[in-house]
Amino acid sequence: MELEDSIINKFGFFERGPKNAINIDPLQTGGKLTEDARRALLEWGDGYSVCDFCGGTLDHIKKPPIEEFIHNAMPSFLQTDAVRITHGARESKFMVMHSMAQEGDHIVLDKLAHYSSYVAAQRARLNVKSVPHSGSPEYKTDAEGYATAIEEVIRDTGKAPALAQITYPDGNYGNLADVKRISEICHVYDVPLMLNGAYSVGRMPIHAKRMGVDFVVGSGHKSMASSGPIGVLGVRDEYADIVFRKSPTHKVKEVELLGCTARGATLMTMIASFPHVVKRTRKWENEVADARWFSSKLKDMGMHQMGDNPHDHDLMFFEAPVLYDISQKAKKGRYYLYRELKERNIHGIKSGLTKYFKLSTYQVGRDSLSYVADSFEEIIEKYQKMV
Ligand SMILES: *Cc1c(COP(=O)(O)O)cnc(C)c1O
Repeated sequence: MELEDSIINKFGFFERGPKNAINIDPLQTGGKLTEDARRALLEWGDGYSVCDFCGGTLDHIKKPPIEEFIHNAMPSFLQTDAVRITHGARESKFMVMHSMAQEGDHIVLDKLAHYSSYVAAQRARLNVKSVPHSGSPEYKTDAEGYATAIEEVIRDTGKAPALAQITYPDGNYGNLADVKRISEICHVYDVPLMLNGAYSVGRMPIHAKRMGVDFVVGSGHKSMASSGPIGVLGVRDEYADIVFRKSPTHKVKEVELLGCTARGATLMTMIASFPHVVKRTRKWENEVADARWFSSKLKDMGMHQMGDNPHDHDLMFFEAPVLYDISQKAKKGRYYLYRELKERNIHGIKSGLTKYFKLSTYQVGRDSLSYVADSFEEIIEKYQKMV
């Protein structure tokens, strides 16, 4: 069948929608571009734009300062030894799993791990052993559970897991597990530990060495004010030759990276936002204070924040029976909340959710958070009067 012009002409530039809403969508609060990143996106938007300056390996481009960024700035920022830029947190995780483990090996994941960790393990043909959490309401991952999981793998297979991973924080409750203790436990068994910092690298200080983790993973579009897909991977020296091994046929190309990763605008937005990103991690305590303040406001209205409480991260999960009760009686049922928030220019709680939802207070600021809290109060009052 011919490709008709009528089909072709359906495509072209699309507007995204309202641009000035208050955004509390956890996926989006840390990925908003800085002004510099916005400029970089236009400047470097052409395909393969950075390749004008490449002598065969992306990470050694000197101008623009990609080499300085990858080999000096990022390792210092994360306190790790060797860094590469990837296409996302999941690609970073896959590279580590694929290079550190052999087909059929076991790896250990916390039960709260993101789906992409499971899919990465499946793509690498690995088996997953998970470490349980404590269940409602705290969903805590017990560090000692790593010892149990590792011992079970050894008992069942005669071999230690090839790798363990901790999600820091997890993407549902925003819980920060005791990484230091988990790394001590893993290292007793000589199991290397990967930190999935999709929600932490670029938001809060992450110090791989101090935490004792061997691999650290970040997501540019989630937490580093970058236009994705882009991610970062930090590796401890002793594993760098494994993960970043070179091709036997193409001597400068690294196999796990398929030779080259982010090669244009995505990388240049990450570099453009880097000064801002580093500085914002230094003000992390303010973000935690804002999250706790917002959590207490919602608590006063009858919404319970699950997970670590008091909370140490901007990503929070709420149980809101008060909003759920309203949905049982409101016109159009459970969609009322989304509609009411949208009318108040607030974006980020998924349409149709009332009983449970998550949100992020990251970089929203006290004034806007106050407005969001007041809006919740208004909505509750409005509907409670009606029913
Ligand atoms: C968002 C998220 C990911 C996926 O990040 P990508 O960079 O899009 O691959 C992985 N893990 C967790 C915990 C996440 O929240």
